Amino acid sequence: MHVFCDNVPAMMHHPFHPPAESAANSAIWYPYAQMKTMAPPLRVVSAQGPILRLDDGRELIDGISSWWSVIHGYNHPEITAAAAKQLEQVPHVMLGGLVHPAAERLAEKLTQVAPGDLNHVFFGDSGSVGVEIALKMAIQHFQNQGRKAKKKIAALHKAYHGDTCGAMSVCDPAEGMHKLFAGIVPEQFFLPAPAGGFDAERATVDQDLKKLRTLLGEHSDQIAAFIVEPLMQAAGGFNFYSPAYLQGARQLCDEHDVLLIFDEVATGFGRTGALFAADRAQVVPDIMVLGKALTAGYSGHSATIATDRVFEAFLSDDPAHAFMHGPTFMGNATACAVAIRSLEIFQQQHYLARIAAIEALLKRELFGLSSPLIRETRVLGATAVVEVHDRGALKGLQAFAADRGVWLRPFERYAYTMPGYVLTDEQLLAITGVLRDWFA
Ligand SMILES: *Cc1c(COP(=O)(O)O)cnc(C)c1O
Repeated sequence: MHVFCDNVPAMMHHPFHPPAESAANSAIWYPYAQMKTMAPPLRVVSAQGPILRLDDGRELIDGISSWWSVIHGYNHPEITAAAAKQLEQVPHVMLGGLVHPAAERLAEKLTQVAPGDLNHVFFGDSGSVGVEIALKMAIQHFQNQGRKAKKKIAALHKAYHGDTCGAMSVCDPAEGMHKLFAGIVPEQFFLPAPAGGFDAERATVDQDLKKLRTLLGEHSDQIAAFIVEPLMQAAGGFNFYSPAYLQGARQLCDEHDVLLIFDEVATGFGRTGALFAADRAQVVPDIMVLGKALTAGYSGHSATIATDRVFEAFLSDDPAHAFMHGPTFMGNATACAVAIRSLEIFQQQHYLARIAAIEALLKRELFGLSSPLIRETRVLGATAVVEVHDRGALKGLQAFAADRGVWLRPFERYAYTMPGYVLTDEQLLAITGVLRDWFA
């Protein structure tokens, strides 16, 4: 904190003085950023609906809804009121031996809207923790039945499941983290990312399923679960794939007694066009993880939901068969109150119809893009991605968008938008217009 210590003689300062606008002496350590070279972040002083207001007076339309969570826009009056009311009643109470109505109502509601017999909700405080819970749950499900060797997880290339060690172990293994943390991050089994897109040909799907069949055929004695982001792999490369792949995976997992985990942290709450990607694919997983939009961007929270079969493997007279996990803030009352109101609004306002209209607009505006820089443009639900051949083609896009009043955060070879569902057509056209102008 030397920058604030006026009484320290100048010569005692570190000889390296970064330029004033650098983040290299920042008290905040920013995510995924080289702090020495990071551009100064934009300062948001207020936000309303899909609009971010900056301290310099500028207003930006948010094209990525704060990492895909703020589906109703910022400061939604009804959700803010639900949070305020809960804060007055009880902001938080631990779930160890206590419970409160908001957690009970949310769990009830989630089991109603979740497909099949996903009837048992384990709360966590972030998506990564929700994934950790799912992995531990799958492994202990078999441990409790004496199947001690089933401790490995199968996962996909291009997957992203979070930043904690267990979650990292099932992220794309080429993404560097595996090498950096070799020996710390457990080694898992990987399959190629499903090819062919959402409308993949049957032959392409069958090829991919053949690899899953071979893996499970050879190693199902060691594999507890197969984890996927259903239909849409998000942060690992925006790969969209066929419902038929998930239907085939469901069958193969059943044949080989392997649990199927859907990480719906990104896809949940309408992002792929149905409430859950599981609905759009018509597949019921054994465990489903929700996060991000669950709490509409008001706070971190997650729900890991298990079927009766998974849950029942923990019922026993043996205390050691209990699920040994319990984040301090699991079932946080304010988060639960927000999630309940968010889901009610989603249902009452017929968001799925709005998302279908957003999908149509994104397709109409972006499928026509033609540029030698572009590798492929993909749209599914309220998600559009323009993948370029070379990441250099996106250098400067973020500032270009901000100059036009739009907040986008392209990364690697992907320019994308995952807007909230409350944007007007005009606001959506401002976002697609930025992409059209950039590639024109
Ligand atoms: C963001 C994300 C996570 C991690 O969630 P955090 O709340 O950031 O820990 C896990 N899985 C998927 C699919 C995600 O998109």
